[in-house]
Amino acid sequence: MGRNIAIDGPAGAGKSTIAKNLAKKLGYIYVDTGAMYRAMALFFLRRGIRAEESDRIEEAVADADVSIVYENGEQQVILNGENVNGLIRTEEVGNMASASSVNPKVREKMTELQRRLAKTSDVVMDGRDIGTFVLPDADVKVYLTASVEERARRRALEYEKKGIEVSVEQIAKDISERDYRDMHREHAPLRRAEDAVLVDTSDMTIAQVEARLMELCENGKKGGKGDFFA
Ligand code: C5P
Repeated sequence: MGRNIAIDGPAGAGKSTIAKNLAKKLGYIYVDTGAMYRAMALFFLRRGIRAEESDRIEEAVADADVSIVYENGEQQVILNGENVNGLIRTEEVGNMASASSVNPKVREKMTELQRRLAKTSDVVMDGRDIGTFVLPDADVKVYLTASVEERARRRALEYEKKGIEVSVEQIAKDISERDYRDMHREHAPLRRAEDAVLVDTSDMTIAQVEARLMELCENGKKGGKGDFFA
C-alpha cells in the first residue's frame, strides 16, 4: 500500500495546482482524477452522445479504455491509445464530464483504476470523492474550497492565459451548476469527509495553501477527529 494523500473539493478551488506541487515536493505521483472523467467525456462527445442519454453512456463505457502515464513527471491521459491531454481542458468537455460522471458505470470504472494506482504508488490524488469513497483510508485528507466568485475568477484567468475568451459570469454559472450536480448525485457525491481538514483558499495565496498542506502531510494529521497516524 502506498502512502495516500486525498484532496477533494469543488471545481476551481485550486486542487490541481496545489496537488501537483505537493506531489513534486513529496516525491509522490500526482493523480488528477478529473482528467480521467474528462477523457471519458471526450469519448462520449466524439460518439455524438448527449449528456442526458444515460443508456448510450452505459453502453459506451466498455469501449473506452482510459489509462494514465507520466511524461517528465506530468500526467498524460490515454484514451484508447491516444494521448488526449491537450483536448480535455475545454468547457464543453468539463460540462460533459460533470454530467456523465453521475453515471455509476462510469464511476465504477474510474474508481477501479484510481484504487489500483493508489495501492501500488505513493500518490497525491485529487477529485470529488477521493477521501469519502475512492480512498477512505487515505493517510491525509483535505477538503479544499473557495467562494464561487473567486473560483470563477481563477478559471477565467486560466482561460485568458490560453487566449480563450470567456465571461466570468458564464463561468460562475457553470461552476454553480457543476457544484450542484457533484453534490447532489446519488453515487459518491462531493462532500467533505468527516476526517478531512477543511481549507478555504478564497483569501490564500498558492504558497500559503501549499505550506498548510505540507504541514498536514508532515504531521500526518487528518482533520475533524484530530487523529494522527504513527
Ligand atoms: O476536476 P475537473 O473539473 O477536471 O473534473 C471534471 C468533472 O469530473 C467534475 O465536474 C466532476 O463532475 C467529475 N469528477 C468526479 N469525480 C472525481 C473527479 C471529477 O465526479 N473524482
